[in-house]
Amino acid sequence: MEGRRRDPLESALRMRVSAASMAVIAMVLAHLLLPLAQSRDARLIDGAIEFGGAIVVLLVLLLGGPQSIRALRERREDAERAHAERKQINHLFRMTEMLQSANGYADANAVLGATIDSLLAGFGGALYVFNNSRDRLELSGSWHWPEDDTLRPMLPPSQCWALKRGKPHVNSDARGTLRCDHHLGTATVLELPMTAHGEIQGMLKIATTLPDAATQLERIQPLATAIADAMSLAVSNIALREKLRTQALRDPLTGLYNRRYMEDALSRFASLTERSGTHLSVLMIDLDHFKKLNDEFGHAVGDSVLRETAAQIMGALRTSDVACRYGGEELLVILPECGLSEAVAKAEILRERIEALSATHDARISASFGVAAMPESTRTIADLLNLADAALYQAKEAGRNRVVAAPGRETPPLSIAAE
Ligand code: GH3
Ligand code: MG
Ligand code: MG
Repeated sequence: MEGRRRDPLESALRMRVSAASMAVIAMVLAHLLLPLAQSRDARLIDGAIEFGGAIVVLLVLLLGGPQSIRALRERREDAERAHAERKQINHLFRMTEMLQSANGYADANAVLGATIDSLLAGFGGALYVFNNSRDRLELSGSWHWPEDDTLRPMLPPSQCWALKRGKPHVNSDARGTLRCDHHLGTATVLELPMTAHGEIQGMLKIATTLPDAATQLERIQPLATAIADAMSLAVSNIALREKLRTQALRDPLTGLYNRRYMEDALSRFASLTERSGTHLSVLMIDLDHFKKLNDEFGHAVGDSVLRETAAQIMGALRTSDVACRYGGEELLVILPECGLSEAVAKAEILRERIEALSATHDARISASFGVAAMPESTRTIADLLNLADAALYQAKEAGRNRVVAAPGRETPPLSIAAE
């Protein structure tokens, strides 16, 4: 049977104490016994040996004992601390490695949540990241956040001392401390700005409701900072990936999908429509006399009219609809599962919304619409855009600011003009 395993540190110290004790005993005994041995008095010799032994034991206990025990305890604590730190570092390495494979914020949040669970057990955590336009931070995820505390879904950087200073900041209810405007709850919160590639990427919040909150947060701050640093690189990579993906799909001026995306989406919807026997409509939209608007008011006004037109269109569509910038001042809307008459009605709503922009800019703003649908106008995707384009041309010819539907396979073209 295996006996109790002895701490190697303890054994080493014990050996050292024993060796020192034996050396002292030998010296004292030699000192006492040598002169006595010459006297040849046996009682004297016995007494001297007992006395010498007692002195040696006393000396060892008094001088060596307490110091050795204290040293032993300190060295054991050091060893335990080093072991715990090694474990934390290993965990942080694992976290960094996992974050490299994170596909998006959901993955990164899962890794962060697990890390906080294991390394900062008993503390609440929350991650905020910048939105696309970098004007506010949005709550990306939270873990074990104190129930009676409030976490805002978004916060402006101008309200946050940690972000303004680019340094850790503690928000608490304690009197005489500087509190951010966004801090509403009762928990004490350590806020760590997350910086990567020279830019603040977001913020990690660590909260506690313990009575000695400030001391507790000070204790875990180095570890929380290491977590925030690992996380900031991941957040920066994810943000960059999302930006590249969006740039590849979206038109930067209007935020609408670009033509490449539209072509893909249209063929996908068309094959679905052909297979399922439902409807698919497209609206081809062209802003009227846009060249004149640019010439009179300048290109910057033209750009903002394009942006606002896109916003008006987006505001009136279903989430399943797809709006694209077809080119210049031409836009295309794909309406899945929408018949021709419904599409004409939707086009009319959009036409009114665009015309209403005239009041804001004190200029004549309008658009012409060509509408075509499958299967009402055609049964083939190849004809759908051509038919919508031809209807748009007719709307222009008929005086602009109107909606024209492509002729049905049996019916003549339908035109709705503005009064
Ligand atoms: P119509 O009613 O016949 O469509 O007349 P139009 O002036 O709108 O048509 P035209 O094709 O002659 O001119 C289109 C104008 O749209 C010219 C171009 O400068 C402007 N345009 C295209 N893209 C942009 C853009 O991104 N920003 C701005 N400000 N103008 C643009
Ligand atoms: Mg045009
Ligand atoms: Mg035009």
